[in-house]
Amino acid sequence: MARRRQIYEGKAKIIFEGPEPGTVVQYFKDDATAGNGAKSGVITGKGVLNNRISEYLMLRLGEMGIPTHFIRSLNMREQLVREVEIIPLEVVVRNVVAGSLSKRFGLPEGERLPRTLVEYYYKNDALNDPLISEEHIVTFGWAHPQELEEIQSLALRVNDFLCGLFTGVGITLVDFKLEFGRLWQDDEMRIVLADEISPDNCRLWDSQTQEKMDKDRFRRDMGGVGEAYQEVARRLGILPENGQVETVSTEGMR
Ligand code: ADP
Ligand code: MG
Repeated sequence: MARRRQIYEGKAKIIFEGPEPGTVVQYFKDDATAGNGAKSGVITGKGVLNNRISEYLMLRLGEMGIPTHFIRSLNMREQLVREVEIIPLEVVVRNVVAGSLSKRFGLPEGERLPRTLVEYYYKNDALNDPLISEEHIVTFGWAHPQELEEIQSLALRVNDFLCGLFTGVGITLVDFKLEFGRLWQDDEMRIVLADEISPDNCRLWDSQTQEKMDKDRFRRDMGGVGEAYQEVARRLGILPENGQVETVSTEGMR
């Protein structure tokens, strides 16, 4: 198979030109970074697990009427998605205090928030993804007010659904980051969920033990990162019967 043209290489994925116009391929790498690249490493098998987990969650959200970019899985590390114009926002939804929220406001990690909090960060590595308000978003034209309303409503619906899904498998959805994009179809523009939903961009705690099952294990040098991602997939019921995900390289398939 001819090697496809690479459009972009990010920290966790590579984006290739898709087989049809209006599509791109997301290739999930094992590379992990934290603190906007300050720390980097490899988590063997992560790309395979995230590809699978994100596929599963996007499909389930799609069934709930949430529009997503996902089209179909191509192989263990790649999925075909609709090409969208990414809105340069990291939309963070929080149910429980953790990470930067805990630091910024001096709140103990693990405290449940009185209501779901939606935060926006400007997606810009050079600026370290600064926290912004809705006013910044509209003032700088990153999204129109109606788009922002749609984004917030979708983010809350995603949260409602995912909270229930994860609770059902003994996991607390502490917080997560979403990206949205604009998709044009027949002269109409729709906002759709894009990028990925995986333990790379969710905080997932075991409901019983509060044990971390996400990228914080990597950020905080706790070890057992791959095992934790695998356990998330296992609980979601998306691992093969033998419980092992084949994590061999698919370099040759690119
Ligand atoms: P980054 O280091 O910028 O986070 P990633 O490694 O996550 O990059 O690679 C994915 C990149 O592709 C991101 O910049 C993301 O915004 C973008 N992206 C995600 N989904 C789509 C899509 N459907 N169409 C176009 N670009 C996308
Ligand atoms: Mg990313």
